[in-house]
Amino acid sequence: MSGYRYKRVLLKLSGEALMGNRDFGIDPDVPQRIARELKPAYDAGLEVAVVVGGGNIFRGLSGAAAGMDRAQGDNMGMLATVINSLALQDTFEHSGMQCRVMSAIEMHQVSETYIRRRAIRHLEKGRITIFAAGTGNPYFTTDTAAALRACEIGAEVLMKATKVDGIYDADPVANPEAKRFDTISYREVLNRDLQVMDATATALCHDNHMPIMVFSLDGEGIFDRALKGEPVGTTVVED
Ligand code: UDP
Repeated sequence: MSGYRYKRVLLKLSGEALMGNRDFGIDPDVPQRIARELKPAYDAGLEVAVVVGGGNIFRGLSGAAAGMDRAQGDNMGMLATVINSLALQDTFEHSGMQCRVMSAIEMHQVSETYIRRRAIRHLEKGRITIFAAGTGNPYFTTDTAAALRACEIGAEVLMKATKVDGIYDADPVANPEAKRFDTISYREVLNRDLQVMDATATALCHDNHMPIMVFSLDGEGIFDRALKGEPVGTTVVED
């Protein structure tokens, strides 16, 4: 545990991150890189929960845009997160880390069902615990699922890994003048409509005093550095 600032954290990974340089699905190199990032914290006894998105496979909104019933599309999106969760579990276990997948939608044959107290027990035993199928409800996102689960399990911080290395005042890809915040308040994120997480997720964190750390997993050891309290990315804090 030495040097670590946190004991229990929730890491949110987007589904798109798993694509690597592909256009769809999972590039196996990415889960392996994520496993390498998590290993030092795992070995040190930190309690790590993970929520992964499904955007590399299916998003309900794109289904709805193509004329599909929104709730039906969202159910497909939630199932996509289960595929990603199982892929991560497989890689984590091959990397010597015990891991459990708990799904918000019951599917006994492939994963446990999410039960809050059981999830906390897994974490206490040092198992990486992946929360699959989002919140189990359509019209939500996996960012909201991450915020909800972080609050439920009493995580000290919600760590959101994105393609961008923090929160900027404008899109840093489109605008090279964009400035990165070291810290920013929830209210400012909401008022400026900064695309960090959706408003539901940000509001839930705000209401429950859940700090959000936004950073990129590019580069070796970033997750570990963030866990040790080094200034990595942007932290969303109280007003
Ligand atoms: N989804 C849902 N309810 C939830 C979480 C996710 O319906 O609680 C669906 C929704 O269709 C979403 C998809 O699952 O588009 C994949 O999740 P998300 O878009 O959050 O993934 P990411 O952008 O992180 O890859």
